[in-house]
Amino acid sequence: MTNPKIWELYAVKYATSINRIRNDNFLNTDPHDSTPMPLDYYIWVATSEDQTIVIDTGFDESEASARGRNIQRSITESLSLIQIDAKKVENVIVTHLHYDHIGGHAEFPSAKFHLQESEMHFATGPHMCTDVMNHSFSIEHITSMVKNVFEGRVTFYDGVGQVAPGITVHHVGGHTMGLQFVRVLTKRGYVVLASDTSHFYENMNQANPFPIIFNLDDTIRGYERLREKAETKNHIIPGHDPIVLDIYPAPNERLSGIVAKLDIQPNS
Ligand SMILES: [Zn+2]
Repeated sequence: MTNPKIWELYAVKYATSINRIRNDNFLNTDPHDSTPMPLDYYIWVATSEDQTIVIDTGFDESEASARGRNIQRSITESLSLIQIDAKKVENVIVTHLHYDHIGGHAEFPSAKFHLQESEMHFATGPHMCTDVMNHSFSIEHITSMVKNVFEGRVTFYDGVGQVAPGITVHHVGGHTMGLQFVRVLTKRGYVVLASDTSHFYENMNQANPFPIIFNLDDTIRGYERLREKAETKNHIIPGHDPIVLDIYPAPNERLSGIVAKLDIQPNS
């Protein structure tokens, strides 16, 4: 193994879902609780002197209108805010194949996609025969990823793997069969991008999962896996929590509320 590198790490928000209540975001709910609880959509970016790794690809306008989501900027535009050209990105980690994580993959024509073998199996096999399982997948995204496989543009992992020095993927399952989280070495130590291993801080802190679940036991164990791999609990970044933009600083004032710098200690 090559010596690990230190990466700068960003969360970039590209969309939001504002009309949600707490009961939409937890498995165990209080039927009387209708408190609003919006959900944000992010992609993440790790940069070093000579490399850029993008984590997840968001979704596009057509998927947004089909699912009643509010897209704020395209993935290409989102990346340009931190001086990254999506067309030139060579490596994209895909945490799982849900529409809001793979939907922008066509914006990365030069990229190789890094995903778990079990996720491709999940998205193309018998589990997709029922609406309740296939609801968060888009057939267009999945067929296009199969094309990428035939073109040699997909690197598969089975468990743990190194994508670049200092960046590893970790299969965890739970939310989908092949969900993986990403561990990145930064100047404040190892930061773990949970993606949908924990949508919100509250999901893991209360062991009360987001209600899209393939395997409940793996979902619950996933919270422990995140803690094992992160330097401290302040080094875990949930996949969809608006709080991330409040507690991490923006790289500059103009990007406040859009980009968070995750390699800096959060302010709470
Ligand atoms: Zn998901």
